[in-house]
Amino acid sequence: MKMLERANQIIQTIEQAGGEAYIVGGAVRDMLLKRQPGDYDLATSLFPHEVIPLFPVVIPTGLDHGTVTVVLDHDPFEVTTFRSESTYSDRRRPDEVTLGVSLEEDLTRRDFTINAMALKPTGLVDLFGGQDDLAAKIVRTVGRAEDRFDEDALRMIRAFRFMSQLEFSLDPQTEQAIKDKQEHLQAVAVERIANEVEKLLLGPGRTAALEAMLRTGVYAYLPHLDRSIIEQLIRLPFNGVSTEDVWTLVLVAGLRPEALRAWKRSKKQETRAKTLAVLVNEETLSDWQRYRLSDEELLHLNEMTGRHHDERTTLPIRQLKDLTVNGRDMIALGLHKKEIKEALHHLEKQVVYRHLENQRDSLLREVMTWKKQHGTGS
Ligand code: ATP
Ligand code: MG
Repeated sequence: MKMLERANQIIQTIEQAGGEAYIVGGAVRDMLLKRQPGDYDLATSLFPHEVIPLFPVVIPTGLDHGTVTVVLDHDPFEVTTFRSESTYSDRRRPDEVTLGVSLEEDLTRRDFTINAMALKPTGLVDLFGGQDDLAAKIVRTVGRAEDRFDEDALRMIRAFRFMSQLEFSLDPQTEQAIKDKQEHLQAVAVERIANEVEKLLLGPGRTAALEAMLRTGVYAYLPHLDRSIIEQLIRLPFNGVSTEDVWTLVLVAGLRPEALRAWKRSKKQETRAKTLAVLVNEETLSDWQRYRLSDEELLHLNEMTGRHHDERTTLPIRQLKDLTVNGRDMIALGLHKKEIKEALHHLEKQVVYRHLENQRDSLLREVMTWKKQHGTGS
């Protein structure tokens, strides 16, 4: 059964229990655009404790916000009680979530008209002209843009994100409000901004979105990004770039490697970006440089740069384990614990650079020579 049919099945079950339910948010937008939605979120008049007994598998994923996840045939559906959000005094998080409001109030709290429609099998609810804006390809806030950005400044970055993903333009009043309200971005958690910026950079309309960022000046509130980095990002080709490689490109565009820390990406993402960014500009890679990459990283490097660095299969060894000696041999030769890693690293280099063949006898001999020269002695 398709996801949409399952979502409709959830709606039907809730209606039979006397409630109202709709598909809401991004899924409605995507369906109207004839795109495949990533997931189907539902909104309902029922409270979580009323939803839970209706389905065999329900995970209480966010009860405070009225959200449970209904799992149907292994597919998860977030089902959230109609809610409103009042007074955002810190411009970050709603002070108060009120559950059990009307559908209209639930749609009113949403960010953009294209994201504020509700759909059930018997009809579409479109209170703010979402369909018109989809047809005109416009990102426009629900209600007065200044007020909406006062409530949650992240919405400004989300506006650029949707411009990029959908290749839409920005409603002029929304753009003006972004110019006026951008300082509020200082209060927004960098992780939330980074998630939106990642999506922005991966979208097909990134050029227009980045240009709008330059026009409004918003880039100044993105950690350590400046005009020239944004201009570089506009120019760079984004061939086959995946989420993991977005930050590589930001480094290539000129973000200082030390500044990546401020974006609070995972350690893994950060290391990968730093490693690849150094190599993007290299026309040829040494065997050692190729050895240090994973197969997958080398593939991505080729995709991003359009170059064809040889596959790692042409290397004498592809990983430490491929050496014909191992740590146990080092111990047998009387090396200290502390020396073993260094000695093996030395052998790796010798073999990868083809100074030595990966032959057990010659490697063991090399270790003895190395120990005399570099070992810590005993
Ligand atoms: P995607 O397909 O990328 O997930 P989406 O539209 O589903 O896009 P989400 O971030 O998953 O985006 O948010 C789901 C819905 O919740 C949005 O469509 C919007 O209605 C609402 N929403 C999300 N974030 C905000 C926000 N900061 N302010 C107001 N409404 C929001
Ligand atoms: Mg979503």
